[in-house]
Amino acid sequence: MRKVAIYGKGGIGKSTTTQNTVAGLVEMGKNVMVVGCDPKADSTRLLLGGLAQKTVLDTLREEGEDVELDDVVKRGYGEVRCVESGGPEPGVGCAGRGIITSINLLEQLGAWDEKFETEYTFYDVLGDVVCGGFAMPIRDGKAEEIYIVVSGEMMAMYAANNICKGIKKYAQAGTVRLGGLICNSRKVDNEREMIEQLAKQIGTQMIHFVPRDNMVQQAEINRKTVIEFAPEHNQANEYRALAKAIDSNEMFVIPDPLEIEELEKLLIDFGIAN
Ligand code: ATP
Ligand code: MG
Repeated sequence: MRKVAIYGKGGIGKSTTTQNTVAGLVEMGKNVMVVGCDPKADSTRLLLGGLAQKTVLDTLREEGEDVELDDVVKRGYGEVRCVESGGPEPGVGCAGRGIITSINLLEQLGAWDEKFETEYTFYDVLGDVVCGGFAMPIRDGKAEEIYIVVSGEMMAMYAANNICKGIKKYAQAGTVRLGGLICNSRKVDNEREMIEQLAKQIGTQMIHFVPRDNMVQQAEINRKTVIEFAPEHNQANEYRALAKAIDSNEMFVIPDPLEIEELEKLLIDFGIAN
């Protein structure tokens, strides 16, 4: 089974990209499970048609030992299995630890039993902080294959580079590897070339360039992925291409993050040369 985690700066498009990619994989006939690791619990909304689903941690708090797999795993688009791990009570406890509690419980309940024939698990991870709790899925080997969503905006690139520092730290002692950068376009000048160059310098690849398109919002308002809402639209094909690229990816590296000066040079070179 491939264990994939999607990282990236807050608001960059992790949840949207994850769910659309998963829809693309499902269309290809892949058997996929999605585990939302964000206390907002919005990682599976487009796959579930907006159905509010009870998080693992809420269920655990309310039902104690009596939790059953069906209480927390819901079937969504194309039979994809969806889970939201949820978060600690606000102001109490560590969200990262909550995620591990939640994943461990899912394991105990047999969420990955052979009978499910799971080919992919996708973890949609909160935010861009790789220190402390949010690195736990990669630190504990729950996720092994990381994709970073980035754009040509400076802070998104800065966050991506920081995430690479975190991955590098855990990769040296474990199995986690970087599979590539997903450029989720913000229509910045020379964006494609700049992110390709960033990827090259990190030692990885830009696995796909996802254009910015309002169809994403239209589908979102209708609580669907673009693939489900507008299957004929070009944006749906972009997500299909990303799903195919991930499915056939063979480039898994220990990233070599940039020094801040190198990152600034990249921004100047591509930002000015337009
Ligand atoms: P958070 O860090 O808060 O979890 P996120 O990284 O998961 O955020 P999303 O919630 O997926 O980000 O996306 C933020 C917004 O950007 C969404 O409203 C979504 O519709 C929009 N968006 C994402 N990708 C695209 C795109 N390619 N074209 C147009 N809009 C997009
Ligand atoms: Mg999100």
